[in-house]
Amino acid sequence: MPQPWPRPEVDSDSRPFWEGLKQGELRIQHCADCGRHIFYPRLLCPHCFSDRIEWVAASGRGSIYSYTVVHRAMGPFADEAPYIVAIVELEEGVRMMTRVVSPRDAVAIGRPVRVVFTQVDDALVLPFFEVTGEG
Ligand SMILES: [Zn+2]
Repeated sequence: MPQPWPRPEVDSDSRPFWEGLKQGELRIQHCADCGRHIFYPRLLCPHCFSDRIEWVAASGRGSIYSYTVVHRAMGPFADEAPYIVAIVELEEGVRMMTRVVSPRDAVAIGRPVRVVFTQVDDALVLPFFEVTGEG
């Protein structure tokens, strides 16, 4: 019996992100003062320290900024290797750590990706990504 995946710690700062995933929306924050997008969720804009932060739905499109192939994994992920962990840069300019679910030979830095809302188990949806082209 595989171990369950770790649970995210949902708090008032991150709740809209996790709720969005259940509704098929990739939500990030946007600063109403400087106009830049923000990820991970937080109370103050890291660019201008404004507290005028709002939630918006990201396009779900971006590109692979960096990645690695995990060949040896432990705990709940042991049976899943090999898998690809990536940093994806969204069109909105923020980067998030994620998985890329495309075949290994389709994955390269700079390739375009789009979000895939992945139901990991009964209670957890995570935003993974798939490659959509050659970039
Ligand atoms: Zn700002």
